[in-house]
Amino acid sequence: MKIGILAVQGAFLEQEAVLDQLNVSWKEIRRKKDLDDHFDGLILPGGESTVQGKLLRELHLFHPLLEMIQQDIPVLATCAGMILLSEKIGGQTSPHLKTIPMNVMRNAYGRQLASFHTTAEYRGLGKVPMTFIRAPYVSGAAEGVKILSTVDHHIVAVQYRNQTALSFHPELDQDLRIHQDFLGRCR
Ligand code: GLN
Repeated sequence: MKIGILAVQGAFLEQEAVLDQLNVSWKEIRRKKDLDDHFDGLILPGGESTVQGKLLRELHLFHPLLEMIQQDIPVLATCAGMILLSEKIGGQTSPHLKTIPMNVMRNAYGRQLASFHTTAEYRGLGKVPMTFIRAPYVSGAAEGVKILSTVDHHIVAVQYRNQTALSFHPELDQDLRIHQDFLGRCR
């Protein structure tokens, strides 16, 4: 099994470290040629969604990645990755891959620039530790988007078909269950 990790910007090293801990091979996706390999799953890391979206287009990764997602590759998207997948982004006119019919609010937890940490119920897993860094939340989702977790009445984790999207960063906590769950879908 091999997982492709988008590595144009942001927190991809942390994702690689988690896969190393779980003994799963991965490859960084930095340019179109990197997509020649076969991948069983795709990780879209946190970072800055505006920059990532711009780089996806400039590096000609946008359409091939969109196609992979539409063809049902399992996806785990965290934070900026969640924003990349959202059909609508509050207050922003140019969304990105638009593969999840939902609306996200960027930097939604006020002006809080530092991270905050909490523990919340996650569907199927029980209590999960969650680290938020200038995090978005989902302000609305179409029918068919399964809500996996909410924090302070805001949706912070969803599942839509092949895609899991999270507001928080599971790669920054020691709890590997969300990654294990994703890898289970990649097999
Ligand atoms: N604030 C970032 C954005 O809007 C996301 C933050 C993150 O990925 N930790 O893209």
